[in-house]
Amino acid sequence: MALPGIQKWQILERRPPRVDGWLVCVANQKGGVGKTTTTLNLGAALAARGRRVLVVDIDPQANATTGLGLDHRAGGKSTYDLIMQEASLPEVVVPTPVSGLQCAPASVDLAGAEIELVTALAREHRLQECLVEAAGTFDVVFIDCPPSLGLLTINAMVAADDLVVPVQCEYYALEGLGQLVGNAERVRKSLNRELRIAGILLTMYDARTNLSPEVAEEVRKHFGPIVYDTVIPRSIKLSEAPSFGEPAVTLDPSSRGARSYLALADEIASTRDGSQTEGAPSPTSVSVPGPGGRGYGVATPIPPGIERAWPPLQPWTGTG
Ligand code: ADP
Ligand code: MG
Repeated sequence: MALPGIQKWQILERRPPRVDGWLVCVANQKGGVGKTTTTLNLGAALAARGRRVLVVDIDPQANATTGLGLDHRAGGKSTYDLIMQEASLPEVVVPTPVSGLQCAPASVDLAGAEIELVTALAREHRLQECLVEAAGTFDVVFIDCPPSLGLLTINAMVAADDLVVPVQCEYYALEGLGQLVGNAERVRKSLNRELRIAGILLTMYDARTNLSPEVAEEVRKHFGPIVYDTVIPRSIKLSEAPSFGEPAVTLDPSSRGARSYLALADEIASTRDGSQTEGAPSPTSVSVPGPGGRGYGVATPIPPGIERAWPPLQPWTGTG
C-alpha cells in the first residue's frame, strides 16, 4: 500500500527532543512490539538520570502496572476512574519499587471505557484534561497505550507532546506503521497541533539473524532521521523482569537490555539542542503492506462502535 505524500506530513517533522516537561505517548496498534517494555525501562532509565517520571497505564491488560509490581485487581483507583472523571490524578498515582518513578495503574475496567467514551462529551480530551495536573509534578510522563488505534490511544495522542513508536525487528515490521502515522497525522491536524513523532525505536533486534539488520535498514530507509540510533536487542533479562515486578533497568542495570535503554535515555537527553536535526533528509515516501496483522505483532481489531466514532483514515495527500 503506497501512501503518497506521507513525507510531507508534519507529524514526521523533526524537532528538538525534550526530557523535561515531556509528555510522551508510546503507541503501536500491534501487540507485543515492546511498548510496555519501553515505557517501563526508558521510564526507569530517565528516573535513574534524576527525572521525576510518571507511567500512565491505559492498556486494559495492565502489563505496565503488573510490571511495576502493582496489583491491578486490588480495587484501588485506576486510570479508568481518571478517564471517567471519577478520580483526580493525585488520587490515582501510586509509588513503585523504582525510585523516582510513579504509576497511574490500569484496571480491567478500561476495556469498557473504550465503549463508554464513544458517546461521552469531549471524548478525545479526557486524558489530556487529567494530565494537565501532572505538569508541575513530573518531568516526564509516559502513556503506555493498548494495542489498538481506538479512543484510548486517541486520548493519549491528544494528551501527548510526542509519540515514541516501538517497532519490532521482525517480518512485517512496516505493516500497519503507515496506518499509525496516518492516524497520528489526523490527530495532529484536528485535535493536537503540537503532536510529533519523536522517534521510532527498533526493538528485539537479534544480530545473529539476517532478518534484524534487514528490517532495521528498511525502517531507516523509510523513516530516516526520526529512527533512534539506539537499538534495543532481544534480551532475556528484559522479558524476565516483569515477573519480578521491576524493570530490567533497576533489576539488573548491567544487563545488555538495561544498558540499551540507559543508552536510549542518554541519546534522547544528548540531542536536546536539536543541532542534529539540521539538514536532516526528510523521510522518503512510505510503501507498506496493507493493514491487519500476520505473524508477529498482530493488530487488535478496533472495538465495534469505535469505527463510527472514529472512521478509518482515508489516505490524505494534501499539503496543509
Ligand atoms: P507491547 O506492550 O507492545 O504489547 P511488550 O513490551 O509487552 O509489548 O513486549 C511483548 C513481549 O516481548 C513481552 O513478553 C516482553 O517481555 C517481551 N520483550 C519486549 N522487549 C523485549 C526484548 N528487547 N527482548 C526480549 N523480549 C522482549
Ligand atoms: Mg503493552
